[in-house]
Amino acid sequence: MESFLAHEWNWFRDCDAFQLWFYDPGGCLCARCREDLCAPLLRQVEMARRVVRAASPKARVEISLWPIWAWERRLGKSYGEELLDRLRATPVPKEGLPVLVDSAEGDDAFLEEAHALRFPMRAFLFSTNVETPFAFLHPLPRWTEAMVRRVQDKRLDAGYVHSLFPVSKELATLIGLRTLSQPEVARQDRVRDACRIYLGDRGAASRLAPLLETWEDLLAGPRPDPADARSLAASVDRALGALSTPEADVVRTSIHAVAEILAPLDEPLAPRLSRLLAASPPFRAFAPVAAAEHAALRTFVQTGWNHVHY
Ligand SMILES: [Zn+2]
Repeated sequence: MESFLAHEWNWFRDCDAFQLWFYDPGGCLCARCREDLCAPLLRQVEMARRVVRAASPKARVEISLWPIWAWERRLGKSYGEELLDRLRATPVPKEGLPVLVDSAEGDDAFLEEAHALRFPMRAFLFSTNVETPFAFLHPLPRWTEAMVRRVQDKRLDAGYVHSLFPVSKELATLIGLRTLSQPEVARQDRVRDACRIYLGDRGAASRLAPLLETWEDLLAGPRPDPADARSLAASVDRALGALSTPEADVVRTSIHAVAEILAPLDEPLAPRLSRLLAASPPFRAFAPVAAAEHAALRTFVQTGWNHVHY
């Protein structure tokens, strides 16, 4: 395992930081792991430090605590605070206490405990469960702003944006980055700037930016009205006009996909969604799986992203 990790890490040896995520919960849950849930995590921390130190002596090892709170509930056993104590008891010479990472959102995350113990503490902003198939653009201008405010209020050392599905979520990432770097600028201006950078067109950006808050409301659910989705898709089409770039295509296809996902059940949905994605270069790779994922996409959109456990 360690030689495999070292081999992989070599590809990324110029990075400044390496994050260790205990996916999930970080041990195999055999009788031995259950007896001491922290032990497998601490072994991985040690291994990660050895590997990173060998390849990139200057890189930082950050440790994610997510989602220990969920596992504590599921296993009926708390171990997060013990993990903090044991990490605190083994500081690394020169590096000091390790940088810890958790979600900015949950009150049950370990941000405050860890911060009180003087660990450098960073929060990630991440809008959805990675296990949902929703690969489309998901702009969250107000949620992002609220999360950045939490990072400030809790006096954490830093916040950063998680960007999965980097192509389709790039605009949401840009909004997040603008919000983190310019919290003093009015939200509408920040979002419009992000749209301008992303689309490369000032007029389209000014027309699209206000629609992203409607988009945010639509995906918050629960049970969005299919007519609202169709109406928003038509407004987005008008906002983008004749703009024909891969970025404009991501925006257009994303909102039309939401409208298709929400369309009444008596229509042949999956084939229409597949056709929509097949015609869009950024989403073409998803077209063959659209039928298989359609039910999960529908559940996700109908539930509302912020009602899905993550
Ligand atoms: Zn085990």
